[in-house]
Amino acid sequence: MSFERLVIISGPSGVGKTTVLKRLIAQCPLSLNMSVSATTRLPRPGEVSGVSYHFISDEEFKKRRENDEFLEFVEVFGRGHWYGTLREPVYTSLKQGKWVILEIDVLGAAKVWTQHPEAISIFIHPGSIAELEKRLRNRGTESEEALNRRLEVARNEVEASSQYKHIVTNLTVQQTVNDICTILQQEEKKQNV
Ligand code: 5GP
Repeated sequence: MSFERLVIISGPSGVGKTTVLKRLIAQCPLSLNMSVSATTRLPRPGEVSGVSYHFISDEEFKKRRENDEFLEFVEVFGRGHWYGTLREPVYTSLKQGKWVILEIDVLGAAKVWTQHPEAISIFIHPGSIAELEKRLRNRGTESEEALNRRLEVARNEVEASSQYKHIVTNLTVQQTVNDICTILQQEEKKQNV
């Protein structure tokens, strides 16, 4: 099986990844599929199980870990919330020749490209941490403590961005969507030579 159409996308929380990816799927003329991760965190208002995430219990997460169902998994934000990519749906889509997008954190990303060095990795850079803080405050979904924790994680993530094959700076949503689409279309051209 080829992993050239496996796409890892990371970027600090609050950078607008979800909006960017929704628009990318709608606009980029490639057969793109978002991988739906499993998580033990609670849904935010408007998040639908099976679409945003598979929201599962700690016990179920543990069971799936023990069954080796995850391509990668991590505890994000160090507060007992687990996130993981289920291997089976990803491999099935890749076997069908589709593109699969993993929207995962930097630790999970490293685990994936260690197993699959052909994977395309893209980091969405916030421009600056101050800009990110502004976006997170506007979103208003986090307590002050949680927000500070996310900013701390964001600083570390930005430091890790140089390990990605591509870095896209998030100036506007549309520009970011266009940049990512162009990267993928260029990769597809290379794959078809
Ligand atoms: P949120 O709770 O804001 O939806 O996501 C928090 C962080 O978890 C984001 O950085 C997101 O990329 C990351 N994340 C979401 N799903 C996964 C996953 O399956 N694996 C890993 N490693 N990180 C994930």
